[in-house]
Amino acid sequence: MLDKVLIANRGEIALRILRACKELGIKTVAVHSTADKNLKHVLLADESICIGKASATESYLNIPRIIAAAEVTNSIAIHPGYGFLAENAAFAEAVEKSGFIFIGPKAETINLMGDKVSAINSMKKAGVPCVPGSDGPLSDDAEKNRAIAKRIGYPIIVKAAGGGGGRGMRVVRSEDELVKAIETTQAEAGAAFGNPVVYMEKFLENPRHVEIQVLADGQGNAIHLGERDCSMQRRHQKVVEEAPAPGISDQMRAKIGDRCRRACIEIGYRGAGTFEFLYENGEFYFIEMNTRIQVEHPVSEMITGVDLIKEQLRIAAGQPLSIDQSQIQIRGHAIECRINAEDPKSFIPSPGPIDMFHAPGGLGIRWESHIYSGYVVPPYYDSMIGKLITYGESRDEAIARMRHALDELVVEGIKTNIPLQRDIMADENFFAGGTNIHYLEKKLGIA
Ligand code: ADP
Repeated sequence: MLDKVLIANRGEIALRILRACKELGIKTVAVHSTADKNLKHVLLADESICIGKASATESYLNIPRIIAAAEVTNSIAIHPGYGFLAENAAFAEAVEKSGFIFIGPKAETINLMGDKVSAINSMKKAGVPCVPGSDGPLSDDAEKNRAIAKRIGYPIIVKAAGGGGGRGMRVVRSEDELVKAIETTQAEAGAAFGNPVVYMEKFLENPRHVEIQVLADGQGNAIHLGERDCSMQRRHQKVVEEAPAPGISDQMRAKIGDRCRRACIEIGYRGAGTFEFLYENGEFYFIEMNTRIQVEHPVSEMITGVDLIKEQLRIAAGQPLSIDQSQIQIRGHAIECRINAEDPKSFIPSPGPIDMFHAPGGLGIRWESHIYSGYVVPPYYDSMIGKLITYGESRDEAIARMRHALDELVVEGIKTNIPLQRDIMADENFFAGGTNIHYLEKKLGIA
């Protein structure tokens, strides 16, 4: 096993990683900004180092400082968590070049999946179903582009190869808008991502977001852990996630999961990863792969009993996968509500001191969070302060548990989105299951 792991992140995921390390007997190093010295995992880690000022560019995004911290603490490996440097190929490369283990895939895999055109091409080659599209970058030849769009059929969406965070895409509904839309998206992509390459895809009107969790050891073994439905979104940000996805049969899961599993083997994938799909009329369409652990990983853990972070650590230590596909049994249902420090109506962030905190409890309730009474939520980072996960033998039971767990959860002093989560859990269409990615914005009256 790894002797000592440096956790290059903050908040709930840093605590989650610390707990997994402790269970495996791995020593932990917390790195933190000046704003984060009172984070729960910093206080619980074997060692901690302040790596810079509050601004993430001076701390959690500062590659040389993180590597220096690994050096002075004699760490063996670095876990990037999610966000910050988790999908930064230059970071993965710097970590390995400095003699440490990067807990994630190889830098070249991160690069391959970071460019959406190369990601789609390699997935197609591996037999993963993709959205009908341009099969590569668009040229400046207007005639050719018109022909591609005609073949795909309007509406289409022009997307930046280097895009991310829901930015750098434009829907085109008719031929007369096409040329201008391509030019504008190219210019925006060049300015925002330093890469003007764009491509074209069929625009799906009412899809759901369904993603497949995978684990691969980079030694020829890969498994999938079923799917998650993350369709409840606002501005492309997930708000509620659940597993399994309503309406996905065992046969469908086995088929799409197996494609993803095989694709992992084909590209030499190592670590935990997620294949993101749009799902419409019974078909899956690959849109991108996330080469890291995701915020919503706990719902997959609850229904499979697999600790994904411990598996990441074992894989990084060079161990082959400890489980094979036949051992993955999906049982029950899990739901996750993201709890954010924000106004539940305006969504404006609400940092500040938490005067009073009370965690929910009981059978099937899991609370992943770093907050405590007296903790001050800093204004510098993402507003997510915790994740409430419930498990039930059935979806109805998981929802019933979420409803009372949200009632028990008390966070006073700052505003939170708990009231919004209560509304969603009381929504009859959510209760029925299978709402699409536009549902929440329509419900909120913003779409
Ligand atoms: P990003 O990396 O910026 O998150 P994605 O490719 O994952 O970009 O797309 C983000 C979101 O944009 C999707 O979840 C979906 O809501 C919308 N989207 C992307 N491609 C399509 C498409 N072909 N049809 C309909 N919606 C799309």
